[in-house]
Amino acid sequence: MKPVECEFESEALAAALQSRWPEHVDPLLRAHVAACATCSDVIVVAGAIDAARQEMSKRVAVADSGRVWWMAQLRARREAAEAAGRPIAAVQAIAFACAVGLLGACLAAASTWFQSALGWIGSSVAGVDIEAWLPSASVLLAEHGALVLAMAAVIFLLPAAVYLAVGRD
Ligand SMILES: [Zn+2]
Repeated sequence: MKPVECEFESEALAAALQSRWPEHVDPLLRAHVAACATCSDVIVVAGAIDAARQEMSKRVAVADSGRVWWMAQLRARREAAEAAGRPIAAVQAIAFACAVGLLGACLAAASTWFQSALGWIGSSVAGVDIEAWLPSASVLLAEHGALVLAMAAVIFLLPAAVYLAVGRD
């Protein structure tokens, strides 16, 4: 019975898979394969595998450079759009914060004004108490000052933020 394994089997296999068979192998190996049933089988099988692999790699559609370039352009455009969206989101956040601040200032001013008006009406009914009314008026003025500051922030900061966001494009 002939041996199933041969010490040159791996060499023959490597030669066949690396497309070195039969031209670029050692003449001794070639002579051995011609005489050895195991190694000639290995050469036949490995040759078939190698041929199939080459056939398959021919059929695999390697993307042409135009398509690769086009995909890269699409990706770059998408990334640029995402990058452009970030400052807009920042501007929206700033505008939202300003609006919330403005709303808060309005509410505070309104409630302070309402309270001071009520207090003034109450003190007027009880007899004019100018010392009690004056601090309320100063608080009212301070709240209106905050309101004016908030409005100024919206009026000046928002166009600046929009300009920065648009100008960066
Ligand atoms: Zn052999």
